[in-house]
Amino acid sequence: MTENQPTIATTIADFITAITKALAAAQLQADEQARALAAQEGTEVIYRDVTLGFVPTMGALHNGHATLMRRAAEQNDVVVSSIFVNPLQFGPGEDYERYPRTLEADAALAGEAGVQVIFAPSVEEMYPDGDPLIRITSGELGTKFEGKTRPGHFDGVLTVVNKLFNIVRAGAGDHEVNAYFGQKDAQQFVLIQRMVHDFNHSVNLRPVAIVRDDDGLALSSRNEFLSPAEREAALVLSRTLALLRENSLNRGFEGIDLQSARERINATEGVRLDYLELVDPHTFGEPTEESERVLALAAIFVGSTRLIDNMDLR
Ligand code: AMP
Repeated sequence: MTENQPTIATTIADFITAITKALAAAQLQADEQARALAAQEGTEVIYRDVTLGFVPTMGALHNGHATLMRRAAEQNDVVVSSIFVNPLQFGPGEDYERYPRTLEADAALAGEAGVQVIFAPSVEEMYPDGDPLIRITSGELGTKFEGKTRPGHFDGVLTVVNKLFNIVRAGAGDHEVNAYFGQKDAQQFVLIQRMVHDFNHSVNLRPVAIVRDDDGLALSSRNEFLSPAEREAALVLSRTLALLRENSLNRGFEGIDLQSARERINATEGVRLDYLELVDPHTFGEPTEESERVLALAAIFVGSTRLIDNMDLR
């Protein structure tokens, strides 16, 4: 056990209690510091409310997750994270069963990154009545891109994030909650933004840029499934996106040749393109010459492993 080992809560009740306790302790400490500072400087005490950072994950943590956690730790007094492989967001024949589950290593990594409490519930704890009757639907956007290949995926994501936000909010009381999500899942981020808006969640969303390996491959828990040859082949995804970006920066919208980018990916042995499209990341609609930002969005299969990536072209 290292000094930074986080508390692991496996029930919703324990998680709520752990959040409340951690925030109360942090508030006490912040108040003491405020008083000490005022005494030292002979000024009035200025109290501030401590805040909570929340990082939801499915575990098998890597440096991408750790980056979200470190960001949360920089910006908040208490950081909590959930590790839950959510069955609702996996379709039949997807990798739910083989998804890596590495709680011990995850706890060590999360602790190092500044996480104080981990919520690692069982499926029964989250869905005690089996498949939940009431779910969030992700609408038309939920059927495009990722949602086209993975029907129901985003409904599953939104249903669990909705639940997690309610649980975390219950522990946080009046304290501000900031939730951290990676831009790697760009479509997920937009849908969660819409849900927060439509359902009046009192949670601030904090996007974090994609974290890549030195060779450009976007970090993913699913990279663990890749053989060395597959990993090499997978590089065509980030390299093709980077090429699109370079062409776009040099020659504008005209420079973006999606068709040859698609062909380049499909010409790579062992790689099959699922989709490569351009979107305006604010709306996820078609970008225009006037769009402030244009995002190239792609998914590939490398053997039986599905990988996603995206890149800003402007
Ligand atoms: P997951 O465990 O795959 O559900 O991811 C949990 C969170 O980490 C999500 O908000 C992801 O977008 C984020 N994330 C995963 N991989 C990366 C990465 N390479 N860079 C930035 N964020 C990431």
